[in-house]
Amino acid sequence: MNRADVAIAGAGIIGLTTALELAAAGCCVTVFDQNEAMSEASRAAAGMLAGADPENPAELRELSRLSLTLYSDFLARVESLSGKCIPIRTTRTVQGVHHLPQGAKALSTTELRALAPSANTGGCSFLLLEEQSFDAWDLAESLPAAARSAGIELRERTAVLSVRGGTSDVELVTATESLSAGAFLNATGAWASRLDHALPVSPRKGHMLTAELPGEVQMHCVLRSPSVYVVPRGGNRYTIGSTVEDAGFDRTVDPLRIQELFSRAMDLWLPLREANIAETWIGFRPGSEDGLPIIDQTGENCWVATGHFRNGILLGPGTGRVLSQSMTGRQPEIDLSPFRCGRFALSRASS
Ligand SMILES: Cc1cc2nc3c(=O)[nH]c(=O)nc-3n(C[C@H](O)[C@H](O)[C@H](O)COP(=O)(O)OP(=O)(O)OC[C@H]3O[C@@H](n4cnc5c(N)ncnc54)[C@H](O)[C@@H]3O)c2cc1C
Repeated sequence: MNRADVAIAGAGIIGLTTALELAAAGCCVTVFDQNEAMSEASRAAAGMLAGADPENPAELRELSRLSLTLYSDFLARVESLSGKCIPIRTTRTVQGVHHLPQGAKALSTTELRALAPSANTGGCSFLLLEEQSFDAWDLAESLPAAARSAGIELRERTAVLSVRGGTSDVELVTATESLSAGAFLNATGAWASRLDHALPVSPRKGHMLTAELPGEVQMHCVLRSPSVYVVPRGGNRYTIGSTVEDAGFDRTVDPLRIQELFSRAMDLWLPLREANIAETWIGFRPGSEDGLPIIDQTGENCWVATGHFRNGILLGPGTGRVLSQSMTGRQPEIDLSPFRCGRFALSRASS
């Protein structure tokens, strides 16, 4: 039987950022993925680090802040370990809101036109947010290579089928072997409840598309409204997202959903009326019952990190940091109580 200090199921951003933190703390880490590493939600994402979005739940504030302070070092480390570049594509977001948050200043029409020429206000006020985005595909190409070069063992196309916690070790079973580990992390995203039925997590499907405009680049910031966002991808390509659907693990790309999304984007940003659809795809966000992450110890030597819903790319480095602190017996540097499993039992008891 093989042995690791820590075994992780799920090689998305959550599993791999945690693995990198644990490896840096001196742990021997093995990460399993039933598919290829970074091939699910973490690859499907738009790549916005939307920590300043006024629509975010207040409970995410501390974890977002921690993640954002770690982000540039995280990207630099992944780049240096993998030898691959992850360019920051945008540094500002123009966000449409129906109601201005208290104390916020709306952009004037002239300011809006300068940032997002031909944006259609559609009755919204617009805010300027200092927020970065990168291409999630760039991270998906480099993070697995970085993990390997940090000495992490990555086992792709190997599903963890079951896990049994014990007082000293945890035993994992795959189709071909058993492995014992000092600790286990369930980071299987939208699939997390398959390994632990008590977790109230389900897939929230999102359709995405990339549109290509003829001619010159026309916008250098993310443009976001309550119903759609447009993210510049370099050259004259723009990624447009996204739907939020309860459709189980249905991988169909529905042309009607794509068209509906594209129409909303064309209404928001008029130049898209000249664009062609270049690519379409879907992804499964891990959504918990209350829309907040679940980051907790679930049993003897067993942890879970899932439910990052619409903000897992933003929250990845912060989640990796606090989990590695918890899993190695240190005090996590932020309060994790909003993310504990116990909140679901409490809300059921009081309803
Ligand atoms: C369309 C879309 C747009 C998004 N845009 C953004 C954005 O702009 N900004 C942002 O911050 N977030 C965004 N998100 C959310 C973000 O992508 C997710 O919250 C994040 O990727 C979740 O990461 P994860 O590692 O938990 O899950 P995943 O990336 O899905 O990884 C889980 C992994 O577990 C593996 N797995 C499952 N079961 C097993 C098993 N039994 N054994 C082994 N492996 C298993 C899967 O194959 C998968 O690779 C978006 C998501 C979607 C779908």
